[in-house]
Amino acid sequence: PAGDALLRQVADRLRSTVGGLGNVGRLGGDEFQVILPGPHKKDELAHLAHRIIENLSQPYSIDGARVTIGASVGISICPDNGTTSEELIRNADLALYASKNGGRGQFRFYSSDLKDEEEVRQMMLDDLRIALEEGQLMLHYQPVVSVKTGHVVCLEALMRWEHPDRGFVSPGQFIPVAEEVGLIPEVFETVLTRACEASKEWNEDRDRPVVVWVNLSPSQLGSVAVVAQISRIMELTGVDPAVIGFEVTESGILPDPEQAAVFLSQLRDLGTRIAIDDFGTGYSSLGYLQSLPVDTVKLDRSFVVRAGDDPRSRAIVGSVVELAKAMSLSCVAEGVETTDQLDVMVELGCPAVQGYVFARPAPVDEVTVWLADRP
Ligand code: C2E
Ligand code: CA
Ligand code: CA
Repeated sequence: PAGDALLRQVADRLRSTVGGLGNVGRLGGDEFQVILPGPHKKDELAHLAHRIIENLSQPYSIDGARVTIGASVGISICPDNGTTSEELIRNADLALYASKNGGRGQFRFYSSDLKDEEEVRQMMLDDLRIALEEGQLMLHYQPVVSVKTGHVVCLEALMRWEHPDRGFVSPGQFIPVAEEVGLIPEVFETVLTRACEASKEWNEDRDRPVVVWVNLSPSQLGSVAVVAQISRIMELTGVDPAVIGFEVTESGILPDPEQAAVFLSQLRDLGTRIAIDDFGTGYSSLGYLQSLPVDTVKLDRSFVVRAGDDPRSRAIVGSVVELAKAMSLSCVAEGVETTDQLDVMVELGCPAVQGYVFARPAPVDEVTVWLADRP
C-alpha cells in the first residue's frame, strides 16, 4: 500500500510539472513516460527534464513517514531518433540507462553511440565477475601529507583493476558498473579486508599512527548491512578501528542528509573516522555539515586546479579552510600536482594535501618502503 501511495503521488507531481505541455503515462514498475508534441528546442527539453527530476526528488509524506526517492530521465526526439513509437521508446530507454549509469538524478538525450556504450558495459560486467573470482583487483595507496611537517597524515586506498587483455581499467569506469549490478558488497569485502591488514601492519611500530581511508560508494550509504560488514571485517582482521577511515562523497550524502547522519554515526560508534570526499562539488548549502559526524573534508581537485588564476575558486578554498578550522575538522586539498598549486594551498592555509606533487598511488610494498623513510 505504501508503494502504491508513493506511485500516485509521483504521478500527481509529474502531471503538474508537465502541465499542459504533454501527456503523462506509467509504463509499468517505476517507469513513467512523458510525450510532448513538438517542436521543442533541446534546451527547453533539458529544462523540463531538470524540473521533473527536481520535483520528484522532494520528500514525500506516506502515512506520516518521510520518504525520498530519486529520478533519472532519458530523452528521444522524433524524427531524429526514430519515427515509430517502438523506436522512440527503445531509444529513450537506452538514454535512460546511460543517464542512470552516469549517476543519480541525471537526464540524457539519446545519441547513436549509446548502443556501443551499452555493449561495453555488458562486457565490463562479465569481466568484472571474473576479476573478482581471479583476484585481479588490487589496492594502491596514496599518502596525504601535512604541509607544515611533511609527515604522512594518512593514506587513501584506491582500487586498481589489472585486466589481462585491456590493461589497467580505472575505478571511475568500473565502480559505477559494479554499483549498478550489485557487485559492490563483494568488491568492498576485498578492499576493506586488505586495507585493514595493511593499516594494521603499517601501524604496528609507528610512533604516530597513519589512518588508512577507504572509499564508500553512494549505494552503501544508509545500509545496516554495510555497518555490520565493516564491523565484522575489522574484528576479523584485528585492526584498531582508530586507524581506519571512510570517505563518502558529498553528492552521496545530499539526497538524504538525515539518513547519512544516522549511518555515519553508526560508523563513528565503531571507532572509525569519517571524511567528506569531493567537497564543494555538490552545490549544497554548508548547513548540513554541522549535523554530520565528520572528521575531515577533502576539497575537490577542481578548486585546486583553478585556484591559481580564478579568484572565485581561491575564495572558495580559503573559506572551506576557515570553515574546517572553525569546526575543528581536518582539511585536505585533493589532486595537488604542481609546486605552484602547492604554494597556493599553503598560502591559503590548507593544512594537508594529497596529490602527484608528493606521491602517486602505489602498491603496498612501495608504500611500506616510503613510510619507513618518514617515521
Ligand atoms: P577519489 O576518491 O576522488 O580519488 C581521487 C582520485 O584522484 C584517484 O583517482 C587518484 O588517483 C587521483 N589523483 C590523486 N592525486 C592526483 C593528482 O595530483 N592529479 C590527478 N589528476 N589525479 C590525482 P582514481 O584512483 O582513478 O580513482 C577514481 C575514483 O574512483 C575515486 O575518486 C573514487 O571515487 C573511486 N574509487 C577508487 N577506489 C575505490 C574503492 O575502493 N571503492 C569505491 N567505492 N570507490 C573507489
Ligand atoms: Ca576518495
Ligand atoms: Ca575525491
